[in-house]
Amino acid sequence: MSGLVQHSNRLKYSFEFFPTSQQEEENEFWRVVGNLEPFEPEFFSVTYGALGSARKKSLETVEQLHIHTNTQIAAHLTVVDSTKADTDFVLETLWNQGIRRIVALTGDSRGDQSWNSGYHNALELIGAIKKAGDFDISVAAYPEVHPKAESAQSDMDCLKAKLDAGANRAITQYFFEVDTFLRYRDQLAKAGIDKPVIPGILPIHDFFKVRKFSKRCGATIPDYYAIHFAGMEGNAAAQHQLALDLALELCEKLVQEGVDQLHFYTLNRSDLVLQIVKQLSYKIEFENNLQQVA
Ligand code: FAD
Repeated sequence: MSGLVQHSNRLKYSFEFFPTSQQEEENEFWRVVGNLEPFEPEFFSVTYGALGSARKKSLETVEQLHIHTNTQIAAHLTVVDSTKADTDFVLETLWNQGIRRIVALTGDSRGDQSWNSGYHNALELIGAIKKAGDFDISVAAYPEVHPKAESAQSDMDCLKAKLDAGANRAITQYFFEVDTFLRYRDQLAKAGIDKPVIPGILPIHDFFKVRKFSKRCGATIPDYYAIHFAGMEGNAAAQHQLALDLALELCEKLVQEGVDQLHFYTLNRSDLVLQIVKQLSYKIEFENNLQQVA
């Protein structure tokens, strides 16, 4: 019997989007949402101010998803470059809109010093969220250590503090090798962390962009990825198939290792994510059926 069925009868998913910036992207955005909703995700999440995107637009996207889908929506919220009053106002607005999930983040400052009068980090934000309402809280975790962290130990201590302060789970930065996550999972256990830490999966739509971005966020790209993708430069179909094979292999190994939820960084595209989720679902269903027949 294959390992997929042993651990997970129903694999859970969550899907992350960023707010659209152009009107013409809207139709595509809703098509992607429509493609992914049938998989009954645990939640859709919407990034906040990531890569310079507009925070107001993020809150509008959260509200629209909440109104137009039957899926729970998790609003990402960062504290950098915001006063406490701004952050508290956003929390109150989200609560009044019926949003009950937040991904609590420090964020990366654009250099504006106004946040000195704001919450300093995700840990302080969790305290504010607790006062604002009974939100479900997710936080960020870094299997390869946050690039600005003083040490791996301080990074782990930071995650533990966020979870001890009341966060319900963590979602990881993306990574490409299953061993990266498995090593991290061992370290989490050693640190006494027993809340769920959900692997973040980034399907590769554009390898060369991902390579550039990964340097900044400290995610290692295996050498063999570079070799394979370079060999397929200019062949979009071959690159797509390679990206699918690699992501699917990673997800399957994670499931075989007992992971029961995957968080996808969709980049507002459903082509690869949809194929990955469909193929995983088929395989699990197929193995379930085999088991019942046996
Ligand atoms: P914390 O939990 O406060 O810190 C995490 C670790 O980084 C700690 O070890 C801490 O010491 C170290 N660290 C962080 N900043 C510094 C610093 N300036 N100096 C020294 N050490 C530092 N960003 C967005 O802007 N919008 C988003 O919507 C968004 N969503 C994300 C979702 C996920 C699942 C993840 C993994 C990341 C996301 N990010 C987002 C990126 C995140 O904001 C950055 O990685 C940020 O630098 C750290 O935020 P944090 O909440 O993890 O910080």
